[in-house]
Amino acid sequence: MSFNDALLSGLAADGGLYVPEHYPRVSPEQLNAWRDLLQTQGYGALASQVLELFADGYPPDSIGQMTRQAYTAEKFGDPAIVPLQPIGQTSFWLAHLSNGPTASFKDIAMQLLGELLSYELDQRDTTMTVIGATSGDTGSSAEHALMGRRRIKVVMLLPYKRVTPFQRAQMLTIDDPAITNLEIEGVFDDCQDLVKAINLDTAFKARFHISAVNSINWGRVAAQVVYYFAAYLRSGHETVSFAVPTGNFGNILAGHVAREMGLPIDNLILATNENNVLDEFFRNGIYRPRQADLVHRTSSPSMDISKASNFERFVADLLRRDGARVAELFGPTLAQQGYFDLSWTPQFAGLRERFGFISGSASHADRLAVIRRWWQDYQILIDPHTANAVHVAETFTIDGPVIVLETALPFKFADAIEQATGFKPPLPARFAGLEQATEQSVIMPNDLTKVKRWIAKWLRLN
Ligand SMILES: *Cc1c(COP(=O)(O)O)cnc(C)c1O
Repeated sequence: MSFNDALLSGLAADGGLYVPEHYPRVSPEQLNAWRDLLQTQGYGALASQVLELFADGYPPDSIGQMTRQAYTAEKFGDPAIVPLQPIGQTSFWLAHLSNGPTASFKDIAMQLLGELLSYELDQRDTTMTVIGATSGDTGSSAEHALMGRRRIKVVMLLPYKRVTPFQRAQMLTIDDPAITNLEIEGVFDDCQDLVKAINLDTAFKARFHISAVNSINWGRVAAQVVYYFAAYLRSGHETVSFAVPTGNFGNILAGHVAREMGLPIDNLILATNENNVLDEFFRNGIYRPRQADLVHRTSSPSMDISKASNFERFVADLLRRDGARVAELFGPTLAQQGYFDLSWTPQFAGLRERFGFISGSASHADRLAVIRRWWQDYQILIDPHTANAVHVAETFTIDGPVIVLETALPFKFADAIEQATGFKPPLPARFAGLEQATEQSVIMPNDLTKVKRWIAKWLRLN
């Protein structure tokens, strides 16, 4: 399958995820050339070079045009797009991934995806309906990247009462007839399961040209690979580690891909909140998704996830692309026993050495302590998601620099910031008045038949 086909279809027909047949390798000479390119021509130019390694079949410079359109100082508030900031006299750096239109790192991939999808739909003279699930940030990021694109409609499923008022307002105040939001009476995983089930109905999927832009879309992972290269190159170090706040395993998967491509990453530090399924796997070799009602509601809500859909892609690499075994583990094994255990396998024993992953989790108190300390010591305000990563990184003794990926701006999670520091971070001017604007809301039970019926009707009418 081509990159374009994977982009448009999102999820494979059998419910599996697309992966590239192999990861392209980047030589040290290439890295040096990219360092110059980043300095002289900027993030968009680097992005086009990285993307071209994955994306086949595009005419010369078409990807370059798209990356230049996606990554502007106007959209990202800074010509660097992903500025890198040293933290006091420590070995920590902060990579600011969240200066885009909706103030989360999701914007980086989503803005490019908007360009890629529009381009592809124009080529094929067709339309598409994006059906997505969001724990809060993906939805608004997707809607802001896709609104006004005439060939695309968006249906977003969000968990009722489980996203912050600001996140909710970012979606429900969008006044575009091609965009609708469904608040599902359930948790994020229920929304994600509904999207998966809709995608498995091939007739429904074909009839409405349905695709997914969740992090299961390979195009998003590919777009995220770029900022690992950019942050590394800007740091000026020979090797670095990355600390990544992790929920659905999309962000850190891009780090894994970058490392497989030859980027000199020492450790990939995976940080979860109290919803620590992934931490459990990387420490014990057992992957045990939780029941929806056991998902903790935390002060880092975009990481309140009980099963990590992108994790399957990493397991495919861990098991040397034994697709049948991956299908068995994520299909019958999980369905029958509720977990799978790779702790006894030689691959798991060699995991840290081979893939660089280490992991930990953070509690509410840990997050607040980190936010308070970084504010007091460095006058740097970080959001509670990012704080998970800082906390976990600090529990390890890491040789060399650690680049922490900032995944949201602190004002989006003002209550937690106020608890930590005693003040509410100011709302950037560009978001003023959002929470007072009119919201359009549809609340639905967690019921596949009802949700599908509603979507079919909406699509016929709009
Ligand atoms: C989505 C999100 C995460 C988790 O990223 P994954 O790719 O799902 O691991 C972390 N922090 C914020 C603010 C997010 O929006």
